[in-house]
Amino acid sequence: MAEVVEERPAGRSRPSVLIVGAGFGGVGAAIELLRSGFRDVRILERAPDLGGTWHYNDYPGAACDVPSHLYSFSYAQRTDWSRLCSPRGEIHDYLRDIAREWGVDRLIEFGRTVDSCRWDEEQQRWEVATSEGASYEAHAIVLATGQLHRPSYPALAGIESFGGHSFHSSRWDHSYRLGGRRVAVVGTGASAVQFVPEIAPEVESLKVFQRTGNWFLPRRDRRYPAAVRRAIEVVPGLQGLRRRFVFDYTESLTLMIRHPNTVGRIGALSSALFMRRQLRDPELRRRAWPHYTFGCKRILFSSQYLPTLARANVELVTESIAGVEERGLRTADGKLHEVDCIIWGTGFQSTEFMFPMEIAGREGRSLREEWAQGPRAHLGICVSGFPNMFLMYGPNTNTSGGSIIFFEEAQAAYLRQALQALARRGGGSIEVRPEVQEAGDREMQARFPGTAWTRCDSWYRNERGRIVTNWPGYMREYAQRTRELDEREYAIAGPVRAQYVSLRR
Ligand code: NAP
Repeated sequence: MAEVVEERPAGRSRPSVLIVGAGFGGVGAAIELLRSGFRDVRILERAPDLGGTWHYNDYPGAACDVPSHLYSFSYAQRTDWSRLCSPRGEIHDYLRDIAREWGVDRLIEFGRTVDSCRWDEEQQRWEVATSEGASYEAHAIVLATGQLHRPSYPALAGIESFGGHSFHSSRWDHSYRLGGRRVAVVGTGASAVQFVPEIAPEVESLKVFQRTGNWFLPRRDRRYPAAVRRAIEVVPGLQGLRRRFVFDYTESLTLMIRHPNTVGRIGALSSALFMRRQLRDPELRRRAWPHYTFGCKRILFSSQYLPTLARANVELVTESIAGVEERGLRTADGKLHEVDCIIWGTGFQSTEFMFPMEIAGREGRSLREEWAQGPRAHLGICVSGFPNMFLMYGPNTNTSGGSIIFFEEAQAAYLRQALQALARRGGGSIEVRPEVQEAGDREMQARFPGTAWTRCDSWYRNERGRIVTNWPGYMREYAQRTRELDEREYAIAGPVRAQYVSLRR
């Protein structure tokens, strides 16, 4: 790989960039690039609308339990959020609004499902193909497909034989009336705890199938009183202070997860006290109680879910599910739970990242094969052997309590710096050095032992037990590490064959 020594005048030309996914990650990356003068930017999105997870997850009660003053981009702060934790519609509108404000909405092609991305070494470009038969070329690709977009269904015997209606929480069937039906909800994660209290009053009966109990903390969700909203709007600095406060609060959750034997015990105690208050019935409390270290799985924020379990028409089933039959779910104790509808609140194939997309890098290297031992990327963004490819919300950049948008903003700025370096030096490709990636990965994985994350099974780990989704530290550390791209960590090869050309299709 020849090192580029020639410097080109800044801004002479900019690489073309194809972004896959129009959720917060893709839209955020596009805004960052446009703000820095990149013009050839296009986004491919398989859905008919932007939003990513906020497009798909429109179940009743869908909201974000991270307060909006933090769950938003720092450069697009709002003073008029209606609530502490905004409902899905308001978050979706926010994303639409900023996409429009920055001119990103017109760069999106909807109904495009990317099948494959192939690096063309000769042309130093990516060739991208969609299942609809469209093809694209770009100097760089940004894969912003998220971690929580492909529904996960449990591998239960007889699942196909169910004669009633069923759907996944992230593909909510709004045409199906739940009123008066016997409903089963399988799964008790962050999604289920939001929709269970919403549907419980409406259905005839609700059986909630729990495999593992969860740790709960109160969800201090409330409408901002008019006076508070007004103050946030007019008092200079107040909105920033709120963001700072929420930031520090969520960092304290990470502190508890990182130190389960000390501060983590304080978190566990306050959760236990809250749960005891919420679950008055000792038997129900016994069955709902978690038996793993506080913070190992996602801590759930809800003040409605546990009391809902005590409703007369709701039953918490903790027997494991043996299989599905035509009339319902059979549990291991032999009991058949007859229902009209099953709602799968069973989460996502988080550790699959962008797959089943085929990604072929330098010399045809397959990303799937490179990641056979578990996905890894430098700072969750760049993968050695895959030049000019950047990931948003990639491996080890999930947070258990903070804001993914904060991470994504840092990632967008980082990849923008990489592409600026490429353009400035007239290179054809930029690629993280393998030894840098390996050293970073070793250091990062070494930070997990001793933390709560390692003390149970969760969707943060792959089948080998490696934690592949979560960042092991604080948001502020991630921001520090990504703030300035160190060009010495990258091989910039070239020179570029010709002036960067426009995206072709
Ligand atoms: P999830 O957290 O992965 O929960 C899936 C649930 O399904 C778990 O309770 C799991 O039990 C259960 N399950 C899976 N397979 C099962 C089986 N074979 N039998 C019985 N139960 C089974 O999924 P999610 O609730 O959709 O949430 C996914 C992530 O989305 C969250 O962790 C969070 O990061 C994000 N989210 C965020 C918000 C927010 O407000 N910020 C809201 C919703 C979702 P086990 O615990 O035993 O595995």
